[in-house]
Amino acid sequence: MTSQNSCKRCGTCCLKGGPGLHLEDLDLVRSQKIKKSDLVLFRQGEPVWDNVQNKIILLNQELIKIRSVTSKDNACIYYDPLSKSCTIYAYRPLQCRVLKCWDTRDLEKVYGHKRLNRSMLIKQGTAMADLIAEHEKKCSVVDTACLIENLTQENQKSALQKINETVAYDRSFRLTLKEKVNITDFELEFYFGRPMSVIVQSLFAYFKKIPPI
Ligand code: SF4
Repeated sequence: MTSQNSCKRCGTCCLKGGPGLHLEDLDLVRSQKIKKSDLVLFRQGEPVWDNVQNKIILLNQELIKIRSVTSKDNACIYYDPLSKSCTIYAYRPLQCRVLKCWDTRDLEKVYGHKRLNRSMLIKQGTAMADLIAEHEKKCSVVDTACLIENLTQENQKSALQKINETVAYDRSFRLTLKEKVNITDFELEFYFGRPMSVIVQSLFAYFKKIPPI
């Protein structure tokens, strides 16, 4: 049992990764205090680390998070290691406001609050909403997870073909968008999530299946 009862500004929580966002954080994104390009979307069906359950889970709904510095450095992009402080402290999201590393009960309660999702931030009927719907239809993470989970010697050929087609569609979809409109890779990761090639690798690892070479 720890005797700590106040923040020692060690930075450990911010170094572990950015927070997931909830409905309470909607205005922070709408007012651009937190930019969409500073967020990353994890789609339904993706394996992610769950801080409360302390294990990797498959998402049963979208999760929008503040992005990490790089894929190898999990630190929240708003963490300044020199001053060991949050660069958006006045506007930090709900999870950060309630987090006490020495007592996670408040954070656990907040985990049950409604999660922010794309439909709360992107108006239906806009070109972007239509593109998201099209991408979801053609590049479903849930369907891909199902194919990988049920992969056998017998169905391997057809399943891998479908998975490869999905990865190729996703790649071409992103390239086309970058060519036609002024959109960055970071913005793509907010609107359409991480590339399917990355998601597929994480699904193979989650289901302990051997990925094709
Ligand atoms: S938003 Fe601020 S407080 Fe929250 S994890 Fe990032 S740096 Fe830390």
